[in-house]
Amino acid sequence: MLETRSLYYTGLELDRAGMRRADPAWMQAQRDRPDLRVIPLWSDTCLVQAGRPVVLAGGEATPLVTGESVFLGLSAGQPVFAADLSGQDREAALAVAGAADTVDVRALIGAVSQAEAGLLAYARGILHWQRRQRFCGSCGGRCEPRDGGHVRACAACGTLHFPKIEPAIIVLVELPGEPRRCLLGRHQGASPGRYSTLAGFVEIGESLEDAVRREVAEEAGVTVGAVHYQGSQAWPFPAGIMIGFRGVAESADVAVDQTELIDARWFTVAEVQARLADAAAVPPYRHDSIGRALIESWLAESADPPESRR
Ligand SMILES: [Zn+2]
Repeated sequence: MLETRSLYYTGLELDRAGMRRADPAWMQAQRDRPDLRVIPLWSDTCLVQAGRPVVLAGGEATPLVTGESVFLGLSAGQPVFAADLSGQDREAALAVAGAADTVDVRALIGAVSQAEAGLLAYARGILHWQRRQRFCGSCGGRCEPRDGGHVRACAACGTLHFPKIEPAIIVLVELPGEPRRCLLGRHQGASPGRYSTLAGFVEIGESLEDAVRREVAEEAGVTVGAVHYQGSQAWPFPAGIMIGFRGVAESADVAVDQTELIDARWFTVAEVQARLADAAAVPPYRHDSIGRALIESWLAESADPPESRR
């Protein structure tokens, strides 16, 4: 199992107040508090000043806490909201927030803490859903926010709409025997030279393990037997969750689909380590992803004497 508390977009230290936010009087009291804070976003991007995401407080924040803002939770007892400025053009949104630029949350990794990244990703995901759930999918009626923005109710037919989360599996497939080898693939559209763990969305009617075996078979032509859960990570894509696995291959043959993957092959521990040590090589993961943790934990096992792995 992975120690997922060390991953970006996880371990958010926030009280979501899931029971209390359903009480309209309590929610209004949070909107009226002078110590509230608001994270403004514009079209899925963070509003940034001097390289830092803007967080508005006090008198600057209050006008943004309208019925369409979303209550994220209580941070050290103080209410935190997310406000979507996407209804304005970019220049107007920058002016409202007192920001200089709009930046994707993933581009802020390194400039923000793990907890800040998690909060920004959460804000982005729920505002994205809210913007796409303005109307009812059943009858086309207008939806009104409830529960601090975590539910949208159709004013015409009463259907309740809840935030959509898109699950995807990500898997490090290993080949039994020595030397230890893992399967990494080059994805269509990825940086040249980047070989990474395989991933894909879970489809309706599948277990997570089914999705692992299907994705690896479809993309790389490899049959996976045993599948072991490793950990999960919220993923700002915009509201994904990556569920990480280790899979054991039943054969070494690889046949890539040439659609999702353009190449895939088995890498020994030494080959992966050489890529990581070479500053000119593209690493097999992005710094903020659970793919990094899957690969690093696999490499770390090789640092142990073989006896301790049995
Ligand atoms: Zn409806």
